[in-house]
Amino acid sequence: MAHEAIVIGTGFGGMGAAIELKRQGIHDLLMLEREDDLGGTWHVNRYPGLAVDIASVTYSYSFEPNPWWSHWYARGPELKRYAEHVADRYDLRRHMRFGTAVEGATWDEAAQEWEVATAGGERLRCRYLVAATGFLSQPKLPDIPGVEQFAGAVVHTSAWDDDVELDGRRVGVIGTGATAVQLVPELADRAGHLTVFQRTPIWVTPKLDHRMPRLVQQLFARVPLTQRVARTVNTTVLELVMIAAVLHYRHARFLNAAAAAIARRHLRRQVADPELRRKLTPDYSFGCKRPTFSNDYYRTFTRDHVDLETSTITEITPTGVVTDTGTVDLDVLVLATGFDVWDTNFPAIRVTGRDGKDLGGWWRSTRFQAYQGIAVPGFPNFLNLASPYSYSGLSFFTTVEGQMKHLGRLLGEVRRRGATTFEVRDPANEAFLGWVTERLRDSVFTVGSCATARSYYFNQHGEPALLRPSSTIQTHRTAETFPLDDYAYA
Ligand code: NAP
Repeated sequence: MAHEAIVIGTGFGGMGAAIELKRQGIHDLLMLEREDDLGGTWHVNRYPGLAVDIASVTYSYSFEPNPWWSHWYARGPELKRYAEHVADRYDLRRHMRFGTAVEGATWDEAAQEWEVATAGGERLRCRYLVAATGFLSQPKLPDIPGVEQFAGAVVHTSAWDDDVELDGRRVGVIGTGATAVQLVPELADRAGHLTVFQRTPIWVTPKLDHRMPRLVQQLFARVPLTQRVARTVNTTVLELVMIAAVLHYRHARFLNAAAAAIARRHLRRQVADPELRRKLTPDYSFGCKRPTFSNDYYRTFTRDHVDLETSTITEITPTGVVTDTGTVDLDVLVLATGFDVWDTNFPAIRVTGRDGKDLGGWWRSTRFQAYQGIAVPGFPNFLNLASPYSYSGLSFFTTVEGQMKHLGRLLGEVRRRGATTFEVRDPANEAFLGWVTERLRDSVFTVGSCATARSYYFNQHGEPALLRPSSTIQTHRTAETFPLDDYAYA
């Protein structure tokens, strides 16, 4: 028997989709999850220092506010607990199956259903398929010769192992992205010696973090309007950064320059040594790569037992890391090397649509594209949340809630027409691709200096095809007003 819907993934994207499907009257719903519990990113990532860097009043579902966040920026375990709370509150757990990795999904034209293949050899069927596999769910291991020969402990940040002994040991970290910015100060507190291998420096601005006063928590709990106001104010600030400094860079580059100046000043205040400062200063425009926030990252490099290594890694041996200027002996090697977005994440599973159309193959042989960042022609009854041009704003929740609106409106129309299938039309998809392409012409990605950023915002063809170039207000308005005839129904 086919299920009405299958959602792949039980992170905040998958749970948002499931909540919306249930609102639309779909209760025969299966949620498949390759991990052993729910929460997505916040279940998988457990490295020391893990916290969100978008304020929690914004980084949460607007319809499920949590007045009790312990800090302005919640720590990882708290977000995991919030995910559990949402699952219980919306009665999602009974739909979830853990330890079930999906390998692929194929459209069955005769049955007008999807067949979902799991790694365990099962074949599950459904009418509607939603892939909520996240943007940063496929860990990237560095393509450095010898990495598998290292005799000490090797740990990728997304597979943190608490049993790895760090205290007093010689620890090396490869990578200086948002994860390393959180992890490095924590490792420095424990390691006997810490070496951070940096290929590309990252912009870091101060993080205005603090414990949430009890009084504020109580206010948020008793007068929910106050938390909504805090959310609106915070989201507006993030929006301004995103829209003015990133998307409208051509006309407002002074704002972008101001953000870079804040980061430079932050660095100057924490690092006196001009040579160290030079090494830590990016040579690409602010916003080409995801900026980061930390009050102790820069300062960590001034500690006696911490080294910043900027020479090129040539090899990893059983005893350490070889660079083009020397060898660093290590006991523990931490890979803060991020995630593969473009080769293995878009899409994260093999998806075969009408007439055998392969989603990944089609994206790679044409351009990465998805109507409204969620639907693709040739793939009926399928919505892919982590799609090109889908990420809207700075908080993942603004993206997810926009997609929930899109999903709800679309399924409402399917029901109204008494239809069983939907499929986005080619011209609508092409018009959307043309629109995003045009809008990106003024962005920092096109006008700024991004060549040396090595940013995962850009795909293998050099296109910045991840972020949706519009305000979140516009994204949400579009989700409420897109022409329903952009889809064909049958
Ligand atoms: P990332 O930003 O992709 O950074 C990976 C780092 O590893 C980069 O510094 C990269 O250098 C380096 N690297 C990769 N392969 C290498 C190699 N072969 N040799 C030397 N260096 C290598 O990954 P991430 O730090 O895990 O962050 C990913 C994203 O997760 C963030 O951008 C953010 O969206 C999210 N995140 C969010 C939070 C939060 O609080 N909300 C926290 C952590 C992460 P290059 O730059 O030179 O390639």
